[in-house]
Amino acid sequence: MTNLDVKLTKMDDLFSVKNKIVVITGAGRGIGRTLALSMAKRLAITYCFDIKFPNKIPKDLSDNLFHVKCDLTNKKKFATECKKIFNHHKKIDVLINNLGITLPGKNEKKYLEKDWEQTLKINLTTAFNCSQIVLKFMIKKKNGSIINITSINAELGFPNNPAYVASKGGLKMLGKSMAKDWGKYGIRVNNLGPGYFKTLMNKNSWKNTKTRKARTMRTMLGRWGEIDELVGPCIFLASDASKYVTAQDLYVDGGWTANGLS
Ligand code: NAP
Repeated sequence: MTNLDVKLTKMDDLFSVKNKIVVITGAGRGIGRTLALSMAKRLAITYCFDIKFPNKIPKDLSDNLFHVKCDLTNKKKFATECKKIFNHHKKIDVLINNLGITLPGKNEKKYLEKDWEQTLKINLTTAFNCSQIVLKFMIKKKNGSIINITSINAELGFPNNPAYVASKGGLKMLGKSMAKDWGKYGIRVNNLGPGYFKTLMNKNSWKNTKTRKARTMRTMLGRWGEIDELVGPCIFLASDASKYVTAQDLYVDGGWTANGLS
């Protein structure tokens, strides 16, 4: 191949999510909501799934952003809603498995089985089920991008929360398994792992100056992330800019996971 054979694509087209049909879980607030708004602003048709929606759909996004009230542990309901989306648009391009909870323990000598079960159910089983449901529709088009929102907890041991760490490590490897099995159907699966971002999920670590500082010091950039800083990497993974990228982990963590010394 010569240089002349290289197809020139405008940068804007490469990173475009315009008219892509995007399904995102746990998108009523926090990281999921920011990702959903950013997709819709870039003209993706974005379906947010959550148990509740504290915020209304902004008027200027009413053609692009949709709220679907759904307990995501109810896979029948999720499947019915996805079928409706597929029947209407004839495709689903992107699934973002963003839903996640954390139930930190109080006693490192007594992990609670109920917290273990609930965390794995929400963080891992739900992503497993949602991916399989959406696969059925992506396969019809031989095209799709699944993005798992993992965490730096997928790589490292963190205290008093074995269920969360195991769930994120599991989600990371679920992503690689799905990428291996579904690549032949044109479906890419990648993991996007945030470091520390200020959301309701880790309000306690932020409020406590000691834990906030400890987390800040561990980053190479010397600060927590702004939720908006997850948008670019997510758009990269959702768009054709990452057409040949699958089974990868992209950490947006200010250098946390690579830091040798804090
Ligand atoms: P968040 O603010 O706690 O939002 C999670 C959303 O999921 C909430 O709206 C919650 O609703 C909803 N939800 C919980 N259970 C549900 C269910 N069964 N069905 C439907 N919706 C349900 O979380 P976040 O901080 O934005 O985190 C988003 C993702 O990023 C998670 O996977 C998390 O593990 C990951 N992450 C976050 C950080 C961070 O710094 N924040 C770092 C690394 C990874 P309720 O209001 O009812 O709880």
